[in-house]
Formats: sequence, C-alpha cells, structure tokens
Amino acid sequence: MPPSPFKIPENFAPRLAVIGGGISGLAAAHHCKELAPHASLSLLEASDRLGGVLGTTARDGFLIERSADMFTTREPWALELCQRLGIAEDLLPTNDALRRAFVLHRGELLPVPEGFTLMSPTKIGAILQTPLLSWRGKLRLASEYLRRPKRDNADESLESFVVRRFGREAFERLIQPLVGGIYTADPAKLSLLATMPQFLRMEREHGSVIRGTLRQNRAAKNKETASGARYGQFVAPRGGMQMLVDALAASLPEDCVRLRAPVERLAPQMDGSWLVQVSGQPTEAYDGVVLAVKSPLAARLLMATSPALASDLAHIEYAGAALVILGVRKAHIARPIDGFGFVVPAIEQRRILAASFASNKFPGRAPEDGALLRVFVGGALQPELLQHSDDELRTLVCEELADLIGLAGAPMFCEVVRWPDAMPQYHVGHLQIVAAIDQRASHLPNFALAGHAYRGVGIPFCVRSGEQAARHVLEQLAARVADTVG
Ligand SMILES: Cc1cc2nc3c(=O)[nH]c(=O)nc-3n(C[C@H](O)[C@H](O)[C@H](O)COP(=O)(O)OP(=O)(O)OC[C@H]3O[C@@H](n4cnc5c(N)ncnc54)[C@H](O)[C@@H]3O)c2cc1C
Repeated sequence: MPPSPFKIPENFAPRLAVIGGGISGLAAAHHCKELAPHASLSLLEASDRLGGVLGTTARDGFLIERSADMFTTREPWALELCQRLGIAEDLLPTNDALRRAFVLHRGELLPVPEGFTLMSPTKIGAILQTPLLSWRGKLRLASEYLRRPKRDNADESLESFVVRRFGREAFERLIQPLVGGIYTADPAKLSLLATMPQFLRMEREHGSVIRGTLRQNRAAKNKETASGARYGQFVAPRGGMQMLVDALAASLPEDCVRLRAPVERLAPQMDGSWLVQVSGQPTEAYDGVVLAVKSPLAARLLMATSPALASDLAHIEYAGAALVILGVRKAHIARPIDGFGFVVPAIEQRRILAASFASNKFPGRAPEDGALLRVFVGGALQPELLQHSDDELRTLVCEELADLIGLAGAPMFCEVVRWPDAMPQYHVGHLQIVAAIDQRASHLPNFALAGHAYRGVGIPFCVRSGEQAARHVLEQLAARVADTVG
C-alpha cells in the first residue's frame, strides 16, 4: 500500500473494527491505538482467546509453544513492536553453543555443512567435506558459481530453481528439507519470488547465488558461522509467544476486545462505513474495517461485496500440519544431538518432517533433566498423515525418534496440536494474486486486509501487515474528513 499524503489528525476518533485476534489483528489494533488514540476500537475474535495460532502453556517445568517458538529480527517489525511494548528486554537470543542443524541422511543424522544457510553455501571447504553429498553432487553444487544465469525476473518454483542452479542431489538431500520445511510446502509449487526473492536477485545481479552470497558476506563482514536456518537472527520472549500476545492485549483499552465474537457478515455502505454482524448479535456500524483472518474466510465474508476479490482470495491454498510435542528425560535419549534440531528430506520417506529441540534453543524451556522436543508431521507433501488419531500420531513419532535419536521409555508427556489448513501456500504466481487482491481491495472504502496469507507467513511479516492495514484505513478515513472539511 503506498503511503498516503493525509495526516491522521490529533483527536481523530473514528469507529474501527479489527476482525481476527491473531498476531496480525492484534498488531493492527495496537497500531490503530498508536496512530489514533481516540479511535473507538473493537477487536472481534471468534474464539475464546487472543493470539490465533500463537500460544504458550507451562507444564511440569516445561514451557510449551502451540505453534511458533521464535521469530527473526532480520525483518525488524516484530522486534520494533516488542520495543514499543516494552518487552524487548525479555527477548532471548538462541543458544550460541548449540546453534546448528542436522539433516537425516540414509537413516543417520548429519550436521548441515558449516556456513550453509537456506541455500547459500559460504564455505566451500565445508561443502567438499560433507558426507551428505556424493562427489558428483558436490561438484554440481559448486559449479553453481560458474553456471550461466537466467536474467529475467520471472517467478519459479523452489525445486525448479535449485535443481537448475545446484543440481538435483543438493535439492533432494539438503535444500528441499531445509527450505521446504519452513513453509511445509510442496517445493515443486513453492514460489521463490514470494518466499526468497533474494536468491533470484543474486542470480540476476551477480550471475550466481554463491558469488552473490560471498560478495554480500564480504560487504557485511558477516562473522556468523551457524549453519542450517539462520538461527543467529532469531529470538523468543522469555515467557514464550504468549508474552507478546499478552503485552499486545494489555496495550488495548479494556472494553475493546470481544472474544467469542465470530463475524459472519460484512457489508460496505454508500457513505463508506461498514455494517458488521457478529453471529447472534445485532448489526453494528463502523467507519473502517481491518479484516485479519485466513484468506478463505476473508473470501467468504467478501463474496457478496466483491465476488472478484473473493475469488482471488479463494485462490490461496492452505496446508495443514500436526505438531507432536514431547517432554522427555534427557537420560532417555541414547543419541542426543548437539543442535537445534533436524530436518528430514522427502527422499528419506519418513513419517516426520522435522524435529526441533526446543530446550536446546532457549533457556527455561525444560527442567534440568528434561528435553522438550517438537516434531512436525504432515505438510503439503504428506497430508494423509493428519488422518491419524492423536494416539497413532504419538506412536509414530515415538517410533521415528526411537530409531533416529534412540529415544526410549515413556515421555513425561506428549501433546498433539493439530493445525488443519493453517499454513498458506505461496505457490508460483502468488505475488500476482496478491497484487490483484490489493488492487481490488483498494476499491473498498476504509478497508484493508491483513494476515499471513499475503506477504509473508512469519511473525514479523504478520506484524507489518497488521500495522500497514491499520495505517491504510486510518489514512483513508482522514482523507475523507479532509475532503469534507475542504
Ligand atoms: C505450527 C506452526 C509453527 C510456526 N512457527 C513459526 C515460527 O517459528 N516463527 C514464525 O515467525 N512464524 C511461525 N509460524 C507462522 C506464524 O505463527 C503465523 O503465520 C501467524 O501467527 C499467523 O497470524 P495471523 O494473525 O495472520 O493468523 P491466525 O493466527 O490464524 O489468526 C486469525 C484469527 O482470526 C480468528 N477468526 C477466525 N474466524 C473469525 C471470524 N469469523 N471472526 C472473528 N475472528 C475470526 C481466529 O480465531 C484467529 O484468532 C508458525 C505457524 C504454525 C501453524
């Protein structure tokens, strides 16, 4: 959304509805209050709690995250929000000593080569030494440096790009599990332009990803030696994500949050205001609306208002996953890994996508003699696994962990958190769909969309989308006031 020339006047007091109390909606509501402290704000949330997928519980000395357990500070919006909320002091960096990831290779967990982040190798020596790739695979990967670039800026799937640049072996053994896992996506469909445009840019501008990475690192004098995901840039609130949710909730006026308030109808009026109907309650009028729910629901709510916009919104697909969370005794792990977790290449044909050793990442996540493991199952490539019952999921995860890390004995607890249709899939062409959505939504008065479906699934992107949506609606309203006065 381009910045508007209209200033939001002091004492501006429009009636605003933010629909959806996940991190995107919370960030939108908080920013509305920052920009227009006198606004009369309603945050309408369907469930009986705020936070959406985010949430933390404590149990037997463990601190358990229901979904996200950290966020990146490379994109600054979540960090900046924490600073403004006064909780930045409580952000913990990841544990320096164990900052590495493993990848399953023919049944064995091997470290990701040092200096290899997402898909950019910075230490050729480490690549040459890794047993993860054959000599042919290593040479093919290293030859990326010299490979002729594709100069256009067309979108491409992760699989197509990586196989073209680094070869199939590097894709199957290293990059598919490392990158595909982040989005629980099908790499043959995942849009590189929408998720990691920097790699397309490096190819275009430097002729090669390796060359671009080396130049960038030299310029930035980047001393980080972590491998796998870019763990050095990740943080988590000391008390878990719930701390961020609680701080946002506390920043809002008492009467503004309405739980168990599922919005079922939304209609713009001739004067630019909106009628909002919460299930079982009388219709209410608002001057502006931020809609911060998943895109299929946004499509349903906007169907009568703009069928074309609804149709574009419905184009964004979702995938589901289950998170099986285990509290175990350290003594029960025969082959513990000294890292943050491991990823499982699809080619290994296992029943888990990845396992995160949450208690290795941050302090205070498990008692002294315990370890907290979070195992991901399902995703776009194995949706059938979500048909299993909770007991079956527990059993299959324990079997896989017994085999891979020698987990023995009964866990202290094992919780299954299901996330059906919770992960938006940014398929090739996603940015075009989002541009069409933006264009159509811009015709609706005093209205904006926010959420993980559009320009980033991570928490910082959700925060940015909520804040931009809040500003957009307030600026539109301010422009109208300026017009009327003028
Ligand atoms: C398992 C998992 C692990 C993740 N790990 C990470 C991670 O480590 N780091 C990271 O940065 N990101 C991670 N993410 C992504 C990130 O957590 C999400 O993208 C983000 O929290 C989504 O926030 P949101 O507000 O857009 O959507 P949601 O959290 O889905 O919130 C939408 C809200 O709208 C409400 N709602 C629905 N219908 C209505 C209605 N009719 N009326 C009113 N309200 C309604 C819902 O109840 C919900 O509260 C993870 C996600 C998952 C699922």
